[in-house]
Amino acid sequence: MKEHVLLSGYTTLGTGGPARWLGEPEEVAELVELLARARAEGLPVAPIGLGSNLLVADEGFEGLALKLSGELAAARAGEATLVAGGGAPLAVCLHRARAAGLGGFEFACAIPGTVGGAVWMNAGAYGSDVSAVLTRALVADADGAAWLAPAELGLRYRRSGLQRGEVVARAEFHLSQRPVEDIKATVAEMQARRKAAQPTNRRTFGSVFKNPEHELTAGRMLEACGLRGHAIGGARISPKHANFIENDGDARSADAVALIAEARRRALEQFGVRLEPEVQLVGALEIPPPVWG
Ligand SMILES: Cc1cc2nc3c(=O)[nH]c(=O)nc-3n(C[C@H](O)[C@H](O)[C@H](O)COP(=O)(O)OP(=O)(O)OC[C@H]3O[C@@H](n4cnc5c(N)ncnc54)[C@H](O)[C@@H]3O)c2cc1C
Repeated sequence: MKEHVLLSGYTTLGTGGPARWLGEPEEVAELVELLARARAEGLPVAPIGLGSNLLVADEGFEGLALKLSGELAAARAGEATLVAGGGAPLAVCLHRARAAGLGGFEFACAIPGTVGGAVWMNAGAYGSDVSAVLTRALVADADGAAWLAPAELGLRYRRSGLQRGEVVARAEFHLSQRPVEDIKATVAEMQARRKAAQPTNRRTFGSVFKNPEHELTAGRMLEACGLRGHAIGGARISPKHANFIENDGDARSADAVALIAEARRRALEQFGVRLEPEVQLVGALEIPPPVWG
């Protein structure tokens, strides 16, 4: 365990203060032991994947941040399965699947996170998501670890039913044989679409809001509110896609929260829609509910 570790280096936005503790368990038993210690000491726990959907409070996190590593970040492809640790980057999983001629994981090329973060969020893109390929997940808490089926994980649009203190230690995916060249072509096409539509080579945390049940996506709605390029402090709404917030260099998480609050207020005022944030919060951060005026 390390003490006072700055989490800005663990998030794609590059903001946030220090975690009181950072644990890097390499095996399930170690992970359960850390969770049990945290519970005994009354410490909140925050698993951190690649921080690609995270806003960490500028004041930091008075708890135990967990970064899964070793066996808990490894990925292996079998004949029609992929088994990966919760800390395994999706890019590595896709690489293993492609090398084994297994299709079904291509959508993950658009998602710069880990297996654990993807299960927690039921991450998805281009018509697929984790729930479409997940067989089961090994979920650890302070009492031990158990394999859960997708129905027990409560996977919905960009959320799961997992609770704080539950950590995805491992996941198993069912994939199907597909020619490597076809997989490569699908990935190239998805990546080209991404590059054309969204900011790349920018510090962001992906979509700020989930898409509402409305004819407009969150991005189009915020664009119609005139928010493209709108900045607060060092954070600004992407001029390319209004559902992204970029760190212009010296952003603080508080700047991003202020932008999120402003965007929600404007969407409520102009469209009567309460946008729901997709980004996950760590530490004493709160996104105020949208109000008129
Ligand atoms: C450029 C860009 C594009 C993106 N595009 C997409 C997209 O197309 N589709 C999409 O769905 N998302 C997208 N995202 C968002 C993000 O990549 C996903 O939500 C991803 O699943 C987050 O994974 P992570 O490992 O980075 O999790 P983090 O951001 O580190 O954490 C997210 C949440 O998951 C929890 N968590 C992390 N690991 C575990 C674990 N092992 N067990 C339990 N909980 C855990 C965290 O505590 C937190 O609540 C994008 C992000 C960026 C920056």
